[in-house]
Amino acid sequence: MFDNKNPSKTNISELGEFGLIDHLTQNFTVKQKTTVKGIGDDAAVVSSEKDSQLVVTTDMLVEGVHFDLSYMPLKHLGYKAVIVNLSDVYAMNATAKQITVSIAVSNRFPVEALEELYAGIETAASIYNVDLVGGDTTSSTTGLVISVTALGHAKKDDIVYRNGAKENDLLVLTGDVGAAYLGLQVLEREKQVFKVNPKSQPDLEKYTYIIERQLKPEARKGISALLKDLEVKPTSMIDVSDGLSSEIIHLCKNSKVGCNLYEDKIPLDPQVISTCEEFEMDSTTIALSGGEDYELLFTVSTEDFPKIKGNPHLTVIGHMTQESEGMHLITRANTKIPLVARGWNALQNEEED
Ligand code: ADP
Ligand code: MG
Repeated sequence: MFDNKNPSKTNISELGEFGLIDHLTQNFTVKQKTTVKGIGDDAAVVSSEKDSQLVVTTDMLVEGVHFDLSYMPLKHLGYKAVIVNLSDVYAMNATAKQITVSIAVSNRFPVEALEELYAGIETAASIYNVDLVGGDTTSSTTGLVISVTALGHAKKDDIVYRNGAKENDLLVLTGDVGAAYLGLQVLEREKQVFKVNPKSQPDLEKYTYIIERQLKPEARKGISALLKDLEVKPTSMIDVSDGLSSEIIHLCKNSKVGCNLYEDKIPLDPQVISTCEEFEMDSTTIALSGGEDYELLFTVSTEDFPKIKGNPHLTVIGHMTQESEGMHLITRANTKIPLVARGWNALQNEEED
């Protein structure tokens, strides 16, 4: 699993910059009617839909900072680079339509490696129904950098910002949290084992879910439609990229409210619980500070509770309070701990009654 070496190697210089771009993008087709002109001119041309506003977001991934190619296959990296951007579009309650992809590569990467990267981008584009409409290709001295921009659209009144949460609103989370971070811990551990014994065959059976959440995350494409069906418009929304705790703090600060988050309500996959036990980590700390879950976190008015109640994709994990009450985790033992952004001492802070 750590062998990224490709038997056939074509140097990038054999194709040249334009040849390379043509080669990598040849399989992409245009699916969106708002894509007027895709790859191949000085700029892409995108038309707007009636009454809709354009949503734009960018995320850059840098080798050695955001990913490690010793356990991240390039195909997965391409996929993930698209997903992290689409997640931001969905967090605005918008529909993603187009992406651009810019890469900086060193000659350490053969054409075949970039083919893998683009295969992942293509898979994500096809599953999530977005068009690749452009990008930029440049060289780097050593590492790989990939930057994706996503374009989406939504009706003005449908867009959900971070700043609309009101006191008493319910705090709702899609899916579960903590898995992607733990998947990374398992991969890091196996990398160290592999360094010592390259012949070791890791048994990763019991970690399949958490490793998949790290290497092949999905974005919550369907939530906007689900909420529309349920006739629920969130009052605020954000995607969980940095960790639940820090995202809750963003919603609270932007909306000028406080929050009570209930420890016993935080949804955890059984693999998160068992792996936390194995690593002797606290599962709540992991859920709060882990990051890279790409779930959606939003607030709804209490009137909407009957509409979301019992939905298997949605969990009410807390409620918003007056700003002056602050932001707290209510533990299983019913103690109140201030929420802090990131940090491993999230649960070691002074306790209040
Ligand atoms: P320019 O010199 O005008 O920047 P380029 O030669 O960089 O043009 O790009 C030519 C076309 O290929 C443009 O449509 C551009 O958006 C697209 N393109 C360039 N690099 C990439 C890439 N890595 N992925 C996808 N499209 C790309
Ligand atoms: Mg260019």
